[in-house]
Amino acid sequence: MVQDSSADERWMRRALQLAESSAANNEVPVGAIVVLDNKIIGEGANGPIGQCDPTAHAEIQALRDACEKQANYRLPGATLYVTIEPCTMCVGAMVHARISRLVFGATEPKSGAVVSQNNLLAHPAMNTHIEFSDGVLADECSAIMTGFFAKRRDKKKALKEAVNQAELTTTTQTKRKN
Ligand SMILES: [Zn+2]
Repeated sequence: MVQDSSADERWMRRALQLAESSAANNEVPVGAIVVLDNKIIGEGANGPIGQCDPTAHAEIQALRDACEKQANYRLPGATLYVTIEPCTMCVGAMVHARISRLVFGATEPKSGAVVSQNNLLAHPAMNTHIEFSDGVLADECSAIMTGFFAKRRDKKKALKEAVNQAELTTTTQTKRKN
């Protein structure tokens, strides 16, 4: 199968928009879409915290959305685009869904199960063959993540400083009273 890299980038841009919407909800910014016959059939934004659901990763949400729309628990011929390398759970779900191809942006060194910590798609126990391409708009996909975590660190720092300042004020006031 000849892959059209400009089409891959175009679809990845939509996944990036979904990642931005995760960040706006204070969720780790990952976005995913499912494409079949040149059409988006499912979309997902990472949301486990807000949904109180550890399985609410972008890929799972996109697969659920696509399966519901197709009224089919399997998605043969479909391609899943995700901004960050999928984890073990999400690769497992893709195998169950029988998608044909996976495209991801940046690698995830800590939990990536495709090339980083594991090569699950090549594992003999995976009874279906899923092709994959990586590195599509990788810089943009990882920049959203780095930006999100840097902002979160700044917020925590500012909060800590505010707490310290408040404690300092309280101590000074108590001393004055005595
Ligand atoms: Zn996952």
